Amino acid sequence: MTYHDPKFDPLPTDLYIDGAFRPGADGTRFDVLNPATETIIASVASAEIADADAALDAAERAMADWAARTPRARSEVLRKAWELMTARLDDFAHLITLENGKARADAMGEATYAAEFFRWFAEEAVRADGLITQAPASGARILVQHKPAGLAVLVTPWNYPAAMGTRKIAPALAAGCGVVIKPASETPLTMLALMPLLEEAGVPPGLVNVLPSRRSGALVDHMLHDPRVRVVSFTGSTGVGRKLLKSAADQVLKPAMELGGNAPLLVFEDADLDVAVEGTMLAKMRNLGEACTAANRIYVHRDVASAFTEKLTAAMSALKLGDGTDPTVDVGPLVNADTRDKVAQFVADAVAKGAKIECGGAVPEGTGYFYPPTVLSNVPETADCVHDEIFGPVAALQTFTEVEDVIRRANDTEYGLVAYVFSEDMKRALQVCERLDYGMVGLNRGLVSDPAAPFGGTKQSGLGREGGHEGMLEFMETQYISAAW
Ligand code: NAD
Repeated sequence: MTYHDPKFDPLPTDLYIDGAFRPGADGTRFDVLNPATETIIASVASAEIADADAALDAAERAMADWAARTPRARSEVLRKAWELMTARLDDFAHLITLENGKARADAMGEATYAAEFFRWFAEEAVRADGLITQAPASGARILVQHKPAGLAVLVTPWNYPAAMGTRKIAPALAAGCGVVIKPASETPLTMLALMPLLEEAGVPPGLVNVLPSRRSGALVDHMLHDPRVRVVSFTGSTGVGRKLLKSAADQVLKPAMELGGNAPLLVFEDADLDVAVEGTMLAKMRNLGEACTAANRIYVHRDVASAFTEKLTAAMSALKLGDGTDPTVDVGPLVNADTRDKVAQFVADAVAKGAKIECGGAVPEGTGYFYPPTVLSNVPETADCVHDEIFGPVAALQTFTEVEDVIRRANDTEYGLVAYVFSEDMKRALQVCERLDYGMVGLNRGLVSDPAAPFGGTKQSGLGREGGHEGMLEFMETQYISAAW
């Protein structure tokens, strides 16, 4: 064990059920690795079916009281959770870096973003809307209100070990629901470490349960067939999302699916190139490219392609690669060897098909799952990275000349999460944004994630929205009462 941080001492490594840490029913455990050093950070309990049943029992009991509390009472607990997490951003950032690898600045960004969901949904908890109106013909009154939907199963990925969890837990609690969360097996520690803070904030025992597991498929499938569960909220790959949707169909659960992306980034000839490069760096390199929002295909107008490529290559080459716990490092390791090898394969494939490496492009020797910031120019449409998520620090550049052509190419994907547009001609830029078939568009900005905004995609990037006003509705049912007046 290499984890030494007195702030999380002891570091929780057991399942969190009914307000207490405990080993799994069958005693099995699995190792969590530090991707920079390839050493074991901790051995974590692995949940089995009996643990899932215990967690759902606890969530059901806790929810009965929680859902009956006033919105203000729920709001105050969430607000306190934000305060407590905000006071410990450093500690969370450190733990995120240890288990995920991302550099310090990325980890601090994530911890801040993660905490912010508690504040945002503390504010939303007291703003649930409803309606009383007169029925047009009968004279009866139509009363519409939102109620907690029921127990929610939450499943989260490894790329944002804190934020993908809080983005679901905070709205679920604001709505009045109890939850069981299954964090990714690569990064379960951050979510476990958050639980004592939630307890201190006043979250009652059992309302939030955390079940790391090596048997994700069987465990989640079991929970989705428990009649008490009404919501499944998933963030991860489109392939696993499809499986969960099929499982969810058996009980007709309310699904929220935040799935994969293949974000196009368009740089027009009238763009401010410094703004475009800064935005591209953010869209590509935030979380070292391990983000569903990462710019995957970068289309640059031919007139500015060489100037843009030069500036972007200079910015990418200036980044320092290394262990993310070193505060001078900009880019940490990828999460595991498979992810690193997949990124290397995307680059090899693009180069074999005619792309040119402007910088990076080779796996460094030594320990850790590192891949350097890489720029590829002249990437052909046939390259695999044009069609699949790279999920790594590789900027793949193509050129265009006609607006119609670049809109067609940008929309030519089964995904529809986010697109980016850089142009100083606002009229044209807004027209282009509207024609992009994406749930979100960054206009002269490389960052769209904001707790106050509805995050989510079209097509096979998912169903539903997280954050904003919409995020809480994913955990609520609408009830209408027709009242004789
Ligand atoms: P993944 O789909 O492999 O895993 C996500 C979660 O699902 C993990 O907790 C995993 O253990 C669990 N899981 C895996 N198989 C399962 C099964 N059969 N049944 C139930 N649960 C199962 O995804 P990942 O590799 O952890 O994350 C990367 C993917 O997540 C990328 O495609 C990325 O675009 C996507 N992502 C999307 C968003 C978004 O908001 N749209 C955000 C972050 C990541």
